[in-house]
Amino acid sequence: MSDIKEPESMEECHYFSRRALDNGNKFTIWVPKDEVTTMHISYVCGKCRHHGIITSEYHLPFSFNCEKCGAEIKIEPLRGKSKCLKKKKSAGPEV
Ligand SMILES: [Zn+2]
Repeated sequence: MSDIKEPESMEECHYFSRRALDNGNKFTIWVPKDEVTTMHISYVCGKCRHHGIITSEYHLPFSFNCEKCGAEIKIEPLRGKSKCLKKKKSAGPEV
């Protein structure tokens, strides 16, 4: 098993999106900066509450099946993409 963790900061990623859908599915998608063709999805299945992480080639829309109950989980691209927020400058004074 690879040890994949959600990014600590959005600045670490090329794409980052966190969503909770009406059907109970929740997921976080991120694409690392150094590997822009790969996306990781951390999800919670709305049906069985299973929490898992999958890795796939980066493309949206994307659908997959819950590793536990097999329910289909669909990820639609967001209108007006939410890319990583870029901080212009840290709030602190520059030295
Ligand atoms: Zn499930």
